[in-house]
Amino acid sequence: MCGIFGIYNHQDAAELTYLGLYSLQHRGQESAGIVSSNGERFLYKIGAGEVQEVFSKEDLVKLNGRFAIGHVRYSTYGSSDIKNAQPIVVKCSKGFLALAHNGNLVNARYLRNKLEQQGAIFQTTTDSEVILHLISHSKEKNFVDVLKKVLPQLKGAYSLVLLTPNTLYGIRDPYGFRPLVLGKLGKSFILASETCALDIVSAEFIREIEPGEIVEIKDTQLKSYKFANSVRKALCIFEYIYFSRPDSILQGQTIHSVRMKLGKILYRELPTQADIVIPIPDSANSAALGYSQESKIYFNLGFIRNHYIGRTFIQPRQKIRDFSAKIKYNTVKDVLNNKRVVVVDDSIVRGTTSKKLIAMLKSAGSKEIHLRISSAPIIAPCVYGIDTPTKKELIAANYSVEEIRKFLGVTSLYYISINGMVSATNYDETNFCLACFNNNYPVKLKS
Ligand code: SF4
Repeated sequence: MCGIFGIYNHQDAAELTYLGLYSLQHRGQESAGIVSSNGERFLYKIGAGEVQEVFSKEDLVKLNGRFAIGHVRYSTYGSSDIKNAQPIVVKCSKGFLALAHNGNLVNARYLRNKLEQQGAIFQTTTDSEVILHLISHSKEKNFVDVLKKVLPQLKGAYSLVLLTPNTLYGIRDPYGFRPLVLGKLGKSFILASETCALDIVSAEFIREIEPGEIVEIKDTQLKSYKFANSVRKALCIFEYIYFSRPDSILQGQTIHSVRMKLGKILYRELPTQADIVIPIPDSANSAALGYSQESKIYFNLGFIRNHYIGRTFIQPRQKIRDFSAKIKYNTVKDVLNNKRVVVVDDSIVRGTTSKKLIAMLKSAGSKEIHLRISSAPIIAPCVYGIDTPTKKELIAANYSVEEIRKFLGVTSLYYISINGMVSATNYDETNFCLACFNNNYPVKLKS
């Protein structure tokens, strides 16, 4: 999961990119980078950490130029090494290029081996660098023709912003796994992973980039090209459940409204008697609110989340590691004491964090704990850019719901059905990737 941003033709391009990345920080905290162009050459700053840690005021002043792209990274393919931070900047047969990528290519290893046999030398271990090598190797002269030849060779998930010294490109894979939106601020065009990055710079939302589309922004003109016809769409449904910010708009609706619906459907699928409904904050807030509205059970805050745990937080030694859930969450005792509690969470991955949180509810005096999950059981890992563990570590891939209930120590456990999850989005399942719930991968793995 990463966040990308690009802006064309604005005197404060780097500063607006900084703000855009700030609003996309939830999509990756490992590294951040901005590349700006003054029409001839690139200037850039890329570093480890969150946006506010990487850029100083002075950096942003130095990053002058009217064009810029930026990236926040959460590593999946390739290690978390700083040399894998993006945007990737190269000088190649097509001139200076800078690339920011959200997603994972499932055939990166195959393409990389092929390129290495042809003499290519890679600087990083990311799949994204493969794209730049393919561009550099292309014999086509016109840059859009280059892209039309290169992009169909890529298999998997990719939303890209690509900058040459004077042109900005936005690209989305034919399945549309990861989001990418287009906005306008005066005469400037903006590309971003989510609409919240348009809102922060007061840009107007124009539309989503279509799956299989290239937009070229040059000389203040925007041109659109199709490089592939979508066989089917496969937007990652987890964008609705967990990844995107609740205020972002996807497929014409806010993420918050879909999460509310998930909560309502959760109640309708298995009505439950309780005194209060609480979310695991913050990602389950909207779903818990929806559950409360539908069930008429009082919404309350049973957990308070500490928002100030930085990337550099030092994990406690094994001996005191059981405190680690408490560093992030604490209970509000008088809300929970002697209550029948419905707890809403967005997902259960390994089950270890959930177990610690349930233990905290018990010690706060909850007399019944009904755990409700606003996604279906995760039974398969993601290969398209989300950092899920292997099948062996996924609790729902190895145990039944009843076994998980016992392991967590809750009174009852219920996951929303796949149908319920999809129906909350107002689209049918042919629009989504659901592979981690049904093991049906829209693009097959190729090593
Ligand atoms: S496998 Fe799961 S997390 Fe990955 S893209 Fe598909 S739905 Fe999203």
